[in-house]
Amino acid sequence: MIGKTYLEPPREINVLKEVEVLVIGSGPGGISAAIAAAREGADTLLVERYGHLGGMATGGLVLMYTFWLPGQCMEWRERLEKLEGIRFLSSTQGLMLGGSAVPGSGPGISMADPELLKCILNDMAGEAGVKLLLHSWGTQAIVEDNTVKGVIFESKSGRQAIMGKVVIDATGDGDIFAAAGAEFDGYVNPKLRTSQVAVVFRIANIDWDTFAEFRAANPEKWAEMREKVDEVAGFHLGPIASSRNDVTWVNNFLEGYNILNVEDLTKAEVTVRKSMVPVFEYFKKSLPGFEKSFLFDSAPQIGTRGSRRIIGEYIFSEDDMKNGATFEDAVAVFANGAGAGSPQGSTPPRLEMPYRCLVPKSMDGLLVAGRNFSSDTVMNTRLNVIQPCIAMGQAAGTAAALAVQSNVEPRKVDYKALRKRLAAQGIPV
Ligand SMILES: Cc1cc2nc3c(=O)[nH]c(=O)nc-3n(C[C@H](O)[C@H](O)[C@H](O)COP(=O)(O)OP(=O)(O)OC[C@H]3O[C@@H](n4cnc5c(N)ncnc54)[C@H](O)[C@@H]3O)c2cc1C
Repeated sequence: MIGKTYLEPPREINVLKEVEVLVIGSGPGGISAAIAAAREGADTLLVERYGHLGGMATGGLVLMYTFWLPGQCMEWRERLEKLEGIRFLSSTQGLMLGGSAVPGSGPGISMADPELLKCILNDMAGEAGVKLLLHSWGTQAIVEDNTVKGVIFESKSGRQAIMGKVVIDATGDGDIFAAAGAEFDGYVNPKLRTSQVAVVFRIANIDWDTFAEFRAANPEKWAEMREKVDEVAGFHLGPIASSRNDVTWVNNFLEGYNILNVEDLTKAEVTVRKSMVPVFEYFKKSLPGFEKSFLFDSAPQIGTRGSRRIIGEYIFSEDDMKNGATFEDAVAVFANGAGAGSPQGSTPPRLEMPYRCLVPKSMDGLLVAGRNFSSDTVMNTRLNVIQPCIAMGQAAGTAAALAVQSNVEPRKVDYKALRKRLAAQGIPV
């Protein structure tokens, strides 16, 4: 900031479309919301800033699924399985760099192929009748009488507007609700996973089995190498088996970046790229199985784990997790302890998520889907993984369609009718 401002002159812009349900952001939350709304009969448009669907699950190269949920989440898995785009890892393959199994994962860690997933999501959206607008960046909310009526977006076609009877903010970062002036919590706890950013990359032409054998036979040497590789990188990272035995996933964890600050985003990209070559060279030189490897690709989307959370009608909390909370407006159900982070001791086995944490407290015409759900930092860290975000999207999209069809605001949706529709979709509410 240089302390100067510029007053942008007002201008008239085109309204490109008017739809019933307008979803901004096509990550696990947004794509599932759009598909659910369209399947429930709503005229639905999905707007995405990049050229592919899937958010972090594709463009962020987030490949790992540690559990599965009924509903659209299982559809992803079934479609990936049909194309041989998913691999269920054995215990040696599934070990993280630190040598400990992924917490809460059970025996079923699986790794998906992000390119196949992009195509699968295109198919699912097309079959459901979702209209798409890619390469379109939602920048402003259109708000009248405290109700979101549409979104202004920028693209190669310039600045345009789309009106929606219900708008779903699935941008992960809450760009739309922040622009609308809805109340949100922007605190990101620096001690939690959700504060860390990443530029995930992959190394190919390896032999994972040779590497895994070496690692198992030389635990002390491996511990030393693990420290060394973090030193070479300047941040924590680690090879994890991917959806193929000849490709490794290199997840990473950078601390101290504000992902809503464009200069920090730039710095994170540059920092990881600076380390990529030395890290790759270290792997190639030192790790058995990596002798003929090459740097395969890096994520086109920076990995942002946590950001703004809407203040909803209900704030889902760590206490709910400890108590195994149940709700009359439950729209998603999880095995308590599933998700990210360490299991919380002896939590009750079932956890329900209330619809109200997808409904902004302070604004109408709007729902959220995905990692920007109304939650405290601990609950957000736990459920901010792909599968719960798909479940939230499915619930938000179904609710949006119901709101349009019943001609009510999203907060007035009849919970019983919503749960009935979700049950008919196979969600065990
Ligand atoms: C490095 C990393 C590792 C992870 N590891 C795992 C893991 O192993 N397993 C797991 O299950 N989860 C993991 N996660 C978490 C998981 O990726 C997220 O929980 C999930 O992707 C969140 O889905 P979402 O739809 O809420 O947001 P996102 O996936 O972030 O999707 C948001 C979408 O909105 C689009 N968008 C954003 N702003 C705008 C805008 N203004 N206009 C238009 N479009 C916009 C984005 O391009 C994107 O497509 C990881 C995340 C990261 C970053």
